[in-house]
Amino acid sequence: MVRLTIDGRELRAEEGAMILDVAGENNIYIPTLCSHEEVTPYGACRLCLVEITTNGRKRLVASCLYSVREGLVVETNSERVIATRRMIMELLLARCPNNKAIQDLASQLGVNKTSFKLEDNQCILCALCVRVCQEVVGVSAISLVGRGVNREMTTPFYEQSEVCIGCNSCAYVCPVDAIKTEDIGDTRIISMPTCKMEFKLKECKTCGNYWAPERQLDYMVKNLDLAPEIFDHCPNCRD
Ligand code: SF4
Repeated sequence: MVRLTIDGRELRAEEGAMILDVAGENNIYIPTLCSHEEVTPYGACRLCLVEITTNGRKRLVASCLYSVREGLVVETNSERVIATRRMIMELLLARCPNNKAIQDLASQLGVNKTSFKLEDNQCILCALCVRVCQEVVGVSAISLVGRGVNREMTTPFYEQSEVCIGCNSCAYVCPVDAIKTEDIGDTRIISMPTCKMEFKLKECKTCGNYWAPERQLDYMVKNLDLAPEIFDHCPNCRD
């Protein structure tokens, strides 16, 4: 264990834990869009920056990527943090001016307009979907491609991915709702900002409802060594 201070509060934490996690465990709010406890931190959105003092020197770091250590002093709301965080929020607002989640967070952080040139995106390129697909689902169906202003999250060749199982995990974790999923009849449609994919849903042998993508069920049967018949019925009709 190490001792540290966050916003004047003296805390003890596991050495190696990230500042963001230690703050969260102690009910100290640090805004973030791209972090999730189930995946490796990536430091994409930079909203979680905090000001640290080590050896008498102050600097800004991304709290999701910086681990606590003995004697660390952290400020989550210093003037410098607030000013920099607002500038980052302005950049996000300029990138996605019509995105409700971005608008709400901007307003919460006191940012109601942006001085940067407006674009019209929905995705903030945080790669949370990419990390979940790779690290949790184990599929790697999507990735970030291109550089600079051409950077995008997409499937290979912007087409229906051959390995995507239609599980919806990417849409579920997207912090700005940039990936939409709709189940219409026997089809699941996943709409990403740069491509659209369709998946056949399995019909329940008891109630006739279409309840999960066949590809996802096949994937689970194969990887969890299950009997295929287990998915003949939807969860509601299973014993
Ligand atoms: S729906 Fe496809 S892209 Fe999204 S997490 Fe599942 S496998 Fe990955």
